[in-house]
Amino acid sequence: MSKILERADVIKPHEFFVAAGPCAIESKEQYFGVSRALKVMGVGVLRSQLWKPRSSGKSFQGLGLDSLYMLARIKEETGMIITTEIVDKDHIAPTRGVVDVPWVGSRNMQNYELLKALAKDDRPVILKRGYGATIKEWIEAADYIGSERVILCERGIRSGTDSTRFTLDLNGALVAMYDKGMPVIGDPSHTTGRRDLVPALTRSIVAAGLNGIVVEVHNDPQHALCDADQQITPEIFKRVLEECRAIHQLISSGLNN
Ligand code: PEP
Ligand code: MN
Repeated sequence: MSKILERADVIKPHEFFVAAGPCAIESKEQYFGVSRALKVMGVGVLRSQLWKPRSSGKSFQGLGLDSLYMLARIKEETGMIITTEIVDKDHIAPTRGVVDVPWVGSRNMQNYELLKALAKDDRPVILKRGYGATIKEWIEAADYIGSERVILCERGIRSGTDSTRFTLDLNGALVAMYDKGMPVIGDPSHTTGRRDLVPALTRSIVAAGLNGIVVEVHNDPQHALCDADQQITPEIFKRVLEECRAIHQLISSGLNN
């Protein structure tokens, strides 16, 4: 494991990384409410999405930079690590000091100007896999940033099946982990697009031995402004997290290795 990531206290040996939070920040009440519930469960990293690139320009676009103060406030209150998608290179400088771990979304994995700008930063970066990208392309994109600072995130690829939004490529995630020695986490929310499948996929990511999970959790998923079908409540996530901790303990003790 890279010393940079260990020092940043993001990926710790013998622990799995847990990031959770709503698909997007919709209001102070929604974000603060979910964050506090996650803090009580021992979640270390908070998904705090300010920008929402959407297929339709008429859909909710996120609250943007004006709401950065909310992230600062919850970080101060809870001590949680803040992760946020950086959509444009202009978002890098203003988020410094508040956002601990910028992330690059699937659609931007090959946005080389953004990757090059992130290379000049010093924070750990989560790099989501482009949903049509090969493992080689994913690793090459990480190299642009500096692979010793990158946490890869498998979030599902387009495959021959259309029964779910995407298909979680656990094989590929393990290849990246085993062959490159890089940390790889999994996103069960975007790969399935269905909240009833999220618990099983979350458990499968941990059981496979990936380094962590990033899960969409919303206080009122049915009324979420985006990805309403895939977000789960804090109550469901609490149960899933307990199961994941038990699975992780089992595989770490060597019984299943
Ligand atoms: C997200 O995590 O908010 C997201 C949009 O995911 P992806 O970039 O993997 O589609
Ligand atoms: Mn989402």
